[in-house]
Amino acid sequence: MTRLLNVDEARMQVLAQAAPLPLRSVPLAEALGCVLGEDVVSDIDSPPHDKSVVDGYAVRSADLAAGIAELLVVEELTAGMVPRQAVGPGQAARIMTGAPIPAGADAVVMVEKTDGGGRVGLPVSIRGGPVRAGQNIMRRAASLARGQKVLAAGRRLRAIECGLLAEVGRGTVQVIPQPCVAVLATGNELVPHTAVPGPGQIRNSNGPLLEGLIREAGATVGLAASAADDKAALRAAIERGLTHDVLLISGGVSAGVLDLVPATLAELGVREVFHKVNIKPGKPLWFGVWHPSETTHRCLVFGLPGNPVSTLVSFLLFVRPALAALAGRKNGGLPQWKGHLTQSFRQHGDRPTYWPVTLSGCASTPGSGTASPGLAVAPLAWKGSGDLATLSQAQGLAVFPAGDCEFEPGSEVTVIAFSSAAGEPADFE
Ligand code: AMP
Ligand code: MG
Repeated sequence: MTRLLNVDEARMQVLAQAAPLPLRSVPLAEALGCVLGEDVVSDIDSPPHDKSVVDGYAVRSADLAAGIAELLVVEELTAGMVPRQAVGPGQAARIMTGAPIPAGADAVVMVEKTDGGGRVGLPVSIRGGPVRAGQNIMRRAASLARGQKVLAAGRRLRAIECGLLAEVGRGTVQVIPQPCVAVLATGNELVPHTAVPGPGQIRNSNGPLLEGLIREAGATVGLAASAADDKAALRAAIERGLTHDVLLISGGVSAGVLDLVPATLAELGVREVFHKVNIKPGKPLWFGVWHPSETTHRCLVFGLPGNPVSTLVSFLLFVRPALAALAGRKNGGLPQWKGHLTQSFRQHGDRPTYWPVTLSGCASTPGSGTASPGLAVAPLAWKGSGDLATLSQAQGLAVFPAGDCEFEPGSEVTVIAFSSAAGEPADFE
């Protein structure tokens, strides 16, 4: 019998198949979270004119050398207007935030430093002290100059970058798209989660679980289907799923008499990369690639063991990094931390075990491998891979190496955090 792949080896084999998807032009509204596929240059100066950054009066600083003056208001300027009149000696223009500075003026005095009374044709009394040339003015192109590169290819687009792309007029933008994923839950025992299960039946919880995990990873769900353990039904459902970037099949990949998924995938020409990984839970994981000849389409196919926690752990360790790699991101794995057990833990068996835990306290830098005295790791009373209910209390998974071992309270363990429970994940590439 050949040796089972360990987790790192299996993940390497997955990532070797997960090259970034071809660039696509998408509407700006769909670009959030994507990696930018082009350098973006500004088509404008921003601001487009010298503008006031306060509500007040545009003045000539020389008129306010004494810090006090009575000036005649010659114009009122609100944002969006174009000045029609220059400000001469002894004059001012009433001006609102964002409005262009009129010719002749070189500073703005905020309304709070005036008597606030000046309307066009009337005087305004200013007593705010000496005024510096340039005061309260944001110069044209101070933020961005036309022709300037504002974002480089490779940047991950957060809301901030989407705002910036809007500022420079991008209706569409070239990105590495987020993978579109099909979910197929298999099993004769499954009924939709909205149904009341009959004798022998259970609800399909993996479907909604996987859909949520896909969305949390930033990818999109293109298809959510289910199929019975029947060759023809499976075949038809898998064929629909293969048109996506990734197909996640839950159930039917172990050694049972109705575990028909690997053989059906083989019949459809999906090339197996590996089957089974040295891990608990999740050992029966199947991974392969569908790349029909004479097409550019490729679909990464994961056969995830049907027990909900096996599905979850396989997704987090293998599918999530693959989705990130397809989307052009380098690090899709969840952050790893070091912590210390709050209680003893008995590990037994010949596979590394991912055990649900709660986390408290603060952690050291993710991935640094340094132990943090502050991160307390408490194993939950988990009943095994069918026990999703206990997982809902977990904030992460502790990794225990293969072998029989009694871990003392205080022992150092590696944990994978689900969320920011142990600090903010380093999601910034
Ligand atoms: P399998 O991998 O098909 O052998 O299934 C392993 C276990 O997971 C069995 O107890 C199944 O009933 C259960 N299971 C399979 N698919 C699902 C699903 N979609 N939702 C919840 N449990 C499932
Ligand atoms: Mg099954």
